[in-house]
Amino acid sequence: MPAQGKHRRPKSSSPLTRGFVAAGTGGAALALPLIGATGANAADQGAAPVALPQAAAEAQLPQQRAAEPRQAAPAAAPKTGTRTYSVVSGDSLSKIAADQDVRGGWQKVYGDNREVVGENPSLIFPGMKLTLGGKAPAAAERKATAPAPQQQRTERVERTDKRAEQRTESRVEQRSQKRTEKRAEQRTEQRTESKRQTQRSGFSAPVPSGVSTPYRASGGSWSSGYHTGVDFRASSGTPVKAVAAGTVVSAGWGGAYGNEVVIRHNDGRYSQYAHLSALGVRSGQSVSGGQQIGYSGSTGNSSGPHLHFEIRTGPGYGSDIDPLGYLRNNGVPL
Ligand SMILES: [Zn+2]
Repeated sequence: MPAQGKHRRPKSSSPLTRGFVAAGTGGAALALPLIGATGANAADQGAAPVALPQAAAEAQLPQQRAAEPRQAAPAAAPKTGTRTYSVVSGDSLSKIAADQDVRGGWQKVYGDNREVVGENPSLIFPGMKLTLGGKAPAAAERKATAPAPQQQRTERVERTDKRAEQRTESRVEQRSQKRTEKRAEQRTEQRTESKRQTQRSGFSAPVPSGVSTPYRASGGSWSSGYHTGVDFRASSGTPVKAVAAGTVVSAGWGGAYGNEVVIRHNDGRYSQYAHLSALGVRSGQSVSGGQQIGYSGSTGNSSGPHLHFEIRTGPGYGSDIDPLGYLRNNGVPL
């Protein structure tokens, strides 16, 4: 059989196929028994002169397998011998199988290179070494020289994961650092803005601290039934400043309010500062916005050092309005 093995495509090389074609053209009755003998190649040609009955088609499968040893016969070795193929960009197992004339198609290539390719036959990478025409060397043999590709992949993935993790961590750190910087910047801006506002509007907070009891908080400790001012946290001796320019209308003992200062401002509103430990101004005195008028304390009916602060529409008790709202409306950031 000199022709056999020259080319593995059955179309031109297999004498059995030629026999089939010859018989096929001769007549359907002769073709059927021969299909069983020639195997799947006949069907692959698409030139079968007769439709294959189901039984005959099924009969091809074992025949095809039986035919394989013949294909791997020594005569076919020069062209069909086991060889290594390096995957290039754009390759797929089926493309390789077709281009490299691999009998059995991509399934054969995949089967022979199962350990190299891995779980997914559609995932092959340029540079991947595939064994064509025979089984890839057993994993055990390869392990002797280098880690199995699967293992390498896993290690690579782990390394990549770690790097990604580190990158993420450093990014998160950078971001939080940036946020902190931004917040600090905003605070500085706010303070600067607050100073600018004070300069522009002449208004400022009486003490630089937060609120402990808000305006209109309800409770039995206040004669009106609610808190007529706002309490700022202030330890005894904290400088207290006039929230805006105006004239001192009273500075002295105010009963439950202890030592207190009341100032009439240019817009007709009054501000009251109570429970002071010391007074720094006298009645009738003109003050500028931000000028110190005394020190905070806990005089009068007070549970502890703080600054009780009110804004009123008149000089006396009971004409209170929202003090923080007033300051905010006058550009004080609170
Ligand atoms: Zn109060």
